[in-house]
Parts: sequence; structure tokens; C-alpha cells
Amino acid sequence: MGEGGGMLEVARAAAAVGVTSATSEKARILAGYFRTLDDDDLRRAAVFMSGRAFSPSQRRTLGLGWSTVSKVVESISGRDPDELSAIFRKHSDIGDWAGEALEGQTKAEPVSLAEFEEALETIRTARGARKAAPLEALLRRLRPEAARFAVKVISGEMRIGLSEGLVEAALAAAFDLPVTKVKKIHLITGDIGETAVRCKRGELETSTVTLFQPIRFMLASPVETAGEAFARMGAEKVWTEEKYDGVRCQLHHDNGRVELFSRDLKETTGAFPELAEAAPRHGHAVLFDGEVLAHRDGKVLRFFELQHRLGRKRVTDELRREVPVVLVIFDLLYLDGRSLLDEPLETRRRLLEELGVESPFLLARVEEATSPDDLDRIFADTRERGHEGLMVKDPLSPYTPGRRGLAWLKLKRPLATLDVVVTAAEWGHGKRKGVLSDYTFAVKDTKTGKLVNVGKAYTGLTDAEIAEMTERFKAITLEDRGWGYTVKPEVVLEVAFDSIQHSNRHASGFALRFPRIVRIRGDKPVEEIDTLERVEELYERYFGGETEADLTEVAELNAPSGPSPSRASRGGPRGPRGGRRS
Ligand code: AMP
Repeated sequence: MGEGGGMLEVARAAAAVGVTSATSEKARILAGYFRTLDDDDLRRAAVFMSGRAFSPSQRRTLGLGWSTVSKVVESISGRDPDELSAIFRKHSDIGDWAGEALEGQTKAEPVSLAEFEEALETIRTARGARKAAPLEALLRRLRPEAARFAVKVISGEMRIGLSEGLVEAALAAAFDLPVTKVKKIHLITGDIGETAVRCKRGELETSTVTLFQPIRFMLASPVETAGEAFARMGAEKVWTEEKYDGVRCQLHHDNGRVELFSRDLKETTGAFPELAEAAPRHGHAVLFDGEVLAHRDGKVLRFFELQHRLGRKRVTDELRREVPVVLVIFDLLYLDGRSLLDEPLETRRRLLEELGVESPFLLARVEEATSPDDLDRIFADTRERGHEGLMVKDPLSPYTPGRRGLAWLKLKRPLATLDVVVTAAEWGHGKRKGVLSDYTFAVKDTKTGKLVNVGKAYTGLTDAEIAEMTERFKAITLEDRGWGYTVKPEVVLEVAFDSIQHSNRHASGFALRFPRIVRIRGDKPVEEIDTLERVEELYERYFGGETEADLTEVAELNAPSGPSPSRASRGGPRGPRGGRRS
């Protein structure tokens, strides 16, 4: 244990950070403390100081609720409930409360950070009510000011203005590095403890990947038009990939060992055993980045079906049969001892294709676009196949973990808009108090001639428009319902939306998701609004059954090059390397 590697020291450093409000001063104090630690304690302290019992990459949680913590503190303190409540009211913070409540009641032994870490592990692995005993044993040994820090870490409520960002700033100050460098290392490691140790040791290489240490995913920035995509990317040619509607997944494999991680870097190996079982077959040490999709009988299934597979530690054979999954790979970040982060996407893709992966692994469909028109056409084709959008990537870009930059863009547009009529207007809340700002709207059911509601929108209009609408709705009120009015159906709106779902909430049996008002259609008579049939048609086409991106089509993506029959007939562009990868 280094000089400062005890609970008392860490608690005092945290308390000193807590009493100053200037961020730079907080970082300076913390930096001074970090410098006193050896590698092991630094790793621990960086995690604890960011307010966590375990670093996210350890994929552990304590599973200890407030009630257990407070019961244990109560029992050690020997104080009566009124006194304890009075102390709590004074602080409104469970750590500060514990610190004061335990005053004079503990043994005040020196406890090292390593012992604290061990105690946390014992608490984590104990089941249910058994977690209380190791917690009590720990707290009984600590001085109250150390117990105060321990409880803050355990409850996840640090509240002293500490965050991973501040720990990064402190590491930069402690080891004389630019903060940007520290952040970069952190993005790669995804682990503040590991980051701290690398900063201390001067291991500043930011282009290496360590297998089985999940790395943060590269993200995309949204754009709305093909022109904007080209302008923002500033590239002559771009690559496109389908935007698959599944869950992001990172697969690490080396010599038979396989681990999968989700977007928030949690391990998800147990949820997708078919991927874990199949990965070793390719015989290479790899790190794949891709999207898990559910597919059955050669069809990619809706996200709704994939949901049955998510968050599981184990999957029954029955579920595997019902909702099998595939991994559509779109990036290769590591291959047989070589980190590929700094290689351009086109090289990573080439290496990926050379692996010749087989089902349940597939490669994302890549096309090349050299103009906004090209991109628009590919976008339309993608929609045709039932995908919500397109990823646009710069083929020359490196992989930048954790970054939402301009090298990857996502092009999404509302699928369609609907012209609807308002049937009810509700009073708004907050800054919309006193105006009718939430509008329930309907389409026409041509079979019965009736209007049927399909959603409620409350965004898209300016304050001035809302004020005008409020007067208008007051004038055409049918009934005052308290929450608002039902109104004569005569105000026609054009609404955009993200998707359509079945819903019992509305008479139409459907609900538009995230509807927003595009414009007030003063020019359109109610007789001409959209119909329930149109809603059904859009639902069937885009959200109802399966996507048209069937397995055979996706499977063709595995062919390294050569035109696919289905797309050749449409006369699409050449693929990025001369061949068409569709
Ligand atoms: P969003 O969730 O709208 O921010 O979109 C980003 C997500 O799209 C990523 O995290 C991936 O899960 C997903 N995605 C689907 N297809 C791709 C692709 N071809 N490349 C990168 N990300 C993709």
C-alpha cells in the first residue's frame, strides 16, 4: 500500500474536494492525493473517487439498497430513530448522515483501500439479507469520517462535485498530461482505474486495444439531408451502410474465449450464446463491432422480437429457437495481435472481408456514394427494404472510440407525414401553462366515415402559433373536459413521426410515436385528411411484420465482392472496391 492508500486518506482528500467549489482547485487537491499512491491504490482510488464501488468495465454491482445501509448504520449507532432523523434532516445525504451517526461508535482502525475493495466484493457476492453482515463488519472498523466516504461510495451518492470528468482533470494535473490525452486513454480503456494507472506509468499509446477490455463505441452524428451529409463530412466519396435496428454489440474473441459487450459496455455474452459458440470457428483473435439482429426463417425480425433476448444471463433452447440472432458486423478493431483503430475504415473493412465470416455472422451492406443524389437514391432503396435510415461513413476515417464525430453520420428522415385533424386540445404545463398546446388528432376511417384518433402531438409549433391556436380552439369547443376541450374537427395539421405502433389508447388501434407538427394546413379541408387505411398501409410496410432485409439478401453481403442479382438489376453504383457489396 502506498503512503496514502488508506481509507482515512481517501476520505480526507474527498472531504477537501467537497469543501471547495472551484473545479480547478478540486482537481488540484485530488491530483496531490493521487500522486501519493502506488499503482494498485491509484487504480482503486480513481474508481472510488468517481463515486463508484466498481469500475464499469468490471461489470459488477453491489446490489445493496439504501434500506440495508441505513439499517446497518442505525444498529451500529445505537441512536434512537428521532435522533437519526434529525441528523438526516441536517445533511440530507446518506454518507454525511452515516458519518455523524457513527461518531464515537466504531473502532477507528486503519483500513486500507485493498481491504475496502475486498469488503465490497464480499458484500457483492453475499445474497440478499446476508449483505448486511459484511457491511456492518466494515463500518464498525472505520473511523466515522472514513465510514462517511465508504457509505457515499456504497450508496453511489458522492455529491461532492466529483465525477469521472474531474478525476480525468486530476489525473492530468497529477501526471502532467493534457486533459485531452487522459480523456482519450479513458475512451479506449473505458475504465477510469486503468486510465489512472496508464497515466501514471506514462503508457500513453491511444491506438491499442486490449482484448476483453470493452472499448467505447464510435457513434454517429445525425443529419437530415444527403446534401448536409456530404457538406459535413467534407469527403468526395462516402460509404453507406444500412442502419440496422437491433442492439449494438462488441465481440471479443481469442483462442476460444469469447465475450460480448453492449453499448453501455455491459457484458452480454450470456444473452447471445449462438454468437459466443460460433465465434471461435473463424480461428482468429478479433474484436468485431456490429449490431445484433433477430432473424428467423431467413427474415430479419422487428426489434420488438429481439427484445425477448435482451438482458438475459442465460437463454433457454426454446427461446433460441423462437428468436435466433445474428451479428451484422460493420467494423473490425483488432486482428491477431494488431490493433486497427488508426487504420482507415476501408482497410478495416478489407481485412474484415478477408476473414470470410459465416452465419451467424454477416457483414453490413456497403455502398459508395459520390454525390447527394447518389445518397438519396441509396436512402430510398434502404427505406424500400424497410430500414429506418442510413449510416454514412468516411472510408478514410480511423475508429474513434466514444466519439460522436463527423466521420460517421446517420441519415434519418421522417418516414412519411400524415395530414390529420385535431379532435381535442389540452392545457399545457410548465412554460406552456395557460395555453392549449397538446393536440389529440385523428385520421378518417373510410369504412365507417368516422374520425379515429391516432396520436397526440405537443411539439413543432412556435409560441405565437400556439397562442393563435388556443384562441381558435376556444372558439370551436364542443365540450370543456377540465384538462382541455374536445373541439370541432376542423384544424388540419401535417405531422411527422418516428414509427407506428398498435395501441389500445386510441380508437384507430394505432399510435404514432414521437409525432411532431410540421405545419398547420390551413389550405387543406378536413375531407382530404389521411385515412386509417393509409396508417395501416404504413404500419404494414414499415413496422408491422418483418423487414424486407431478408437473410438471403444480408447473406449476400458475405460475398467479398461481385454484384448481387437483386441489386444489379436496379443499376446501383459500384461498390467501394470496384465490386458491389450488396
Ligand atoms: P442512434 O441510436 O440513433 O444514435 O444510432 C446509432 C446506433 O445505430 C448505433 O449505436 C448502432 O447500434 C446502430 N447502427 C445500426 N446500423 C449501424 C451501422 N451500419 N453502423 C453503425 N451503427 C449502426
